[in-house]
Amino acid sequence: MGTTTRREFLSATSLSTMGVVIAATGMNALSTETAAASPSKKFHSAPAQAELEDFVFDMANSKAGWLGAGGSAREATVEEFPVSQSIAGVIMRLNPGGFRELHWHSIAGEWAFILEGKVRTTVITPGGTTSTDEFEVGDIWFFPKGYGHSLQCVGNEPCAFVLGFDNGHFSEFGTFSITDWVSHTPPDLIARNSGLPLSVLASLPKKELYIGKGKIAAEQSPSNLNPAIPASFSSHKFRLETDGIKQEFKGGYIKVVSSKEFPIQNTLTSLRMNIEPGAIRELHWHPNADEWQYVISGQGRVTIFGSHGRVKTMDYGKGMVSFIKQGYGHYIENTGKETLKLVVLFNSPVYQELTLNDWLNANPAQLVADHFGLTLDQAKSVSKHQTGIF
Ligand code: MN
Ligand code: MN
Repeated sequence: MGTTTRREFLSATSLSTMGVVIAATGMNALSTETAAASPSKKFHSAPAQAELEDFVFDMANSKAGWLGAGGSAREATVEEFPVSQSIAGVIMRLNPGGFRELHWHSIAGEWAFILEGKVRTTVITPGGTTSTDEFEVGDIWFFPKGYGHSLQCVGNEPCAFVLGFDNGHFSEFGTFSITDWVSHTPPDLIARNSGLPLSVLASLPKKELYIGKGKIAAEQSPSNLNPAIPASFSSHKFRLETDGIKQEFKGGYIKVVSSKEFPIQNTLTSLRMNIEPGAIRELHWHPNADEWQYVISGQGRVTIFGSHGRVKTMDYGKGMVSFIKQGYGHYIENTGKETLKLVVLFNSPVYQELTLNDWLNANPAQLVADHFGLTLDQAKSVSKHQTGIF
């Protein structure tokens, strides 16, 4: 070795050996690497909390609620339904004469879908314009965060609607109600602010009213309701059931109303879907949004795919909600004898979906065949997305 030290010799040997290995493997480096050391078993392994959470909740029977002479409310927030981080829901009923008092929501925009009866709303915008609108079954509203609003049952029949809020942490019972504020402000200050004599203020509510009982709201529209504005072009109202554009499928239909059709609905997209008995809504996912579903009627079964071999199936029916996280694969089966009717929210104003069938059809048929051990003809015969619900 002459003047070369043992250490230098080892280094030189190691380097030359490595060089030989790299040169020898060349095109086949991965298989050599596999032979040298097996890849870690932790590759792509699921996080410690591998179980998929429950994603169905019986909102109609929620223990979180409110009941009074004017009506009732039952809610599903992250308290009751932890998976639903981005959307909270409420089922509200107002009796004839019932009203949800003037209020606003500091951290969430409010959406609603009318289930029964007639509702009149009045909303004020930060620009100071006001709008009074009337809603019937199948209509939706949207009030952006912070806009002051009130709701009234119209006529002699009760009304019911499902509310959706674009924040799961929001609670309908922690909102900013006008009687709550006024009843916690010194009466002399309220007298100054309102111009009412102090003597009148003794009879004001001592705490938040929430849902009040008043005179039955007349069927005849008040003077500030503008009959010249077509319903679906009024700022806060869209007739989802009537004016939503229908995509018909063999086993049902879908109507999507995003911010494109209903510009003020700037944090959500609405969807109405019917799935006929025995039909399925095909395997698909939504790249840009969580999906929150409310069951109007019927019986169904939802299965989600959460990667790492994790799948979970849950049944639902009338009055229940389901929540599917952004990007999770899913499909819905109608398991009952009647039409499964759903109203759905996505927490994005832009609607996106990808279906398994579209995806398979977009790839070379031979590649698809090689994935599943199919013949080329079998791979080419995979259903097209046009089937949708079948
Ligand atoms: Mn509200
Ligand atoms: Mn979906």
